[in-house]
Amino acid sequence: MRRFYCHCGQEIFFDNTYCNSCNSILGFDPEQQKLISIEPYKGQFRSVKNPEKRYKRCVHHQHQMQCNWLLSTDDHFTQCLSCRLTRVIPNQVYPYNVKRWAVLESAKRRMLYGLLRLGLPIDNWPADDIQRLQFHFLEDQISNPIDGHEQVLSGHAAGVITLNASEADNSYREATREAMNEPYRTLLGHFRHEIGHFYWDKLIKDQSIYNDFKALFGDDTVDYPKALAAYYEAGPPEDFQQEYISAYASAHALEDWAETWAHYLLMHETLETAVAFEVIRQPETDREFHVWLSEWMQLVLVLNALNRSIGNADAYPFVVSTKVQKKLQFIHDLMHR
Ligand SMILES: [Zn+2]
Ligand SMILES: [Zn+2]
Repeated sequence: MRRFYCHCGQEIFFDNTYCNSCNSILGFDPEQQKLISIEPYKGQFRSVKNPEKRYKRCVHHQHQMQCNWLLSTDDHFTQCLSCRLTRVIPNQVYPYNVKRWAVLESAKRRMLYGLLRLGLPIDNWPADDIQRLQFHFLEDQISNPIDGHEQVLSGHAAGVITLNASEADNSYREATREAMNEPYRTLLGHFRHEIGHFYWDKLIKDQSIYNDFKALFGDDTVDYPKALAAYYEAGPPEDFQQEYISAYASAHALEDWAETWAHYLLMHETLETAVAFEVIRQPETDREFHVWLSEWMQLVLVLNALNRSIGNADAYPFVVSTKVQKKLQFIHDLMHR
């Protein structure tokens, strides 16, 4: 993540809606990928620094949602680029679902920031491409016995990303993490994983690169339900870290892809943050994967050491084996194409 500053000089952060030094209203401009100070102007808003830039605020800027994303004034939408991708939300009659929705949207905005920084298309697909990205946040009977859904599994199908809204509850997510014996389970990670499935359909499936994908990640045509059932029955191979970034990645080629993709997004944003705070130097060219990776390995060593000093678990509980490096490089090269 880049660093942002209010027009008054105060450092401001991605989720902020007001500057706590000068009280300016803040908004995130997805086009510039920047958080800026804005001021009311003729029933709309304008940038304080560049008054000729005019904006509308997302309709969800108030109440619990606190969406700080901006739209251009000639946009016919009332919801921002992020909010309007959400098509189904859990029943807002229940206050806990109001909170969950806000938490989900906050993580989603951060994931989308990463896509914008990588220059990936989000809603600008050719007219004949009918598979559009959308999000469904569903509750199930685990948290609400009278809900219509017995069990909601997070996943992606034909552009629709479904997340179980309970994942927004820290206690549920942490209990699930422990039960599944996972070292890392975050909402942001879920979004990054599921969006990986979405981009697989767009960038790999039916593309010339498909055979290269298959050579690295394996056969995606292997029966998916059977493979998943076998994984949940037997668990990952003992030496899974030699081949995969996570245990779950060993379940199926498509899960390996989504896990590795999510990891690439994690690395990309974290490296950007480290460069922004001058913790590491900006590589001369970010196209060189090995330069990028060696900066990364140094960075996560420090990150984990700092966390242990604080008394926390490792922030980065992953092993990046040679095989995993090759898969990450495949994604890195794809991003630069
Ligand atoms: Zn300020
Ligand atoms: Zn919004």
